[in-house]
Amino acid sequence: MRKALVAGNWKMNGRAEANSELVTQVLAGLDAQVDSDSVDVMVFPPSIFIHQVKGLAGDKIGVGAQNLCEFGDGAFTGELSSGMLVDAGCNAVLIGHSERRSMFGDTDERVAAKVKAALAADLTPVLCLGESLEQRDSGDALEVVAEQFRIATEGLGEEQMARLVIAYEPVWAIGTGRTATPEQAQEVHAHLRSELAKVEAELAAKVRILYGGSCNAKNAAELFAQADIDGGLIGGASLKANDFVAICQAAGAR
Ligand code: PEP
Repeated sequence: MRKALVAGNWKMNGRAEANSELVTQVLAGLDAQVDSDSVDVMVFPPSIFIHQVKGLAGDKIGVGAQNLCEFGDGAFTGELSSGMLVDAGCNAVLIGHSERRSMFGDTDERVAAKVKAALAADLTPVLCLGESLEQRDSGDALEVVAEQFRIATEGLGEEQMARLVIAYEPVWAIGTGRTATPEQAQEVHAHLRSELAKVEAELAAKVRILYGGSCNAKNAAELFAQADIDGGLIGGASLKANDFVAICQAAGAR
């Protein structure tokens, strides 16, 4: 069975003092309540806090970035390269989050370039995919998500694909309090796994697919009980230590 993974996307939230409290409380909760052999835990703070959080989190919690620039170091004002993220202590990076797709110009092609840049630097890309409400209502969710996946991974070899984490995040569920039902999420996860199997059967068994979108301490266990849901990408609830730890516990107990 794939080891569960719970990843906290802090989005543009945090201040030094609050980060310190949050990480300290999460570490204490994980120690007391969660078997670290059963679940990997990561957080994705705003980049300016990566160094701070890495220092606090030690080896217990992986630290990643919320974005990276697809180009190498150079004249790209305001951007951060994969090499800089590695230097700051990251081992993963979110790519293609719907907020970046809708507000910051992350097209499918750009997402693909970012995935390649992350892999080249040995960062784990957490590739975010998801349909809009309109696309779901018109019955296109599976095809939309599969197409996003195909474009983002075009040209990758099997060894590179095996290093991906995928996060299915229906856009209509992110930050809305409206969670996909376990059945809706499972259907998309199974479809993504069948896309992986088209590349290579073993890949489908290996790659972790997380669910994200208003996942919280109450609904996590039900979602994680689905056969193809390997954990969660957690936004709002990752800012509350007790809730985040409860979600990690649910993932570890699945
Ligand atoms: C996210 O931002 O990736 C996310 C899933 O947010 P939320 O849990 O707040 O819906």
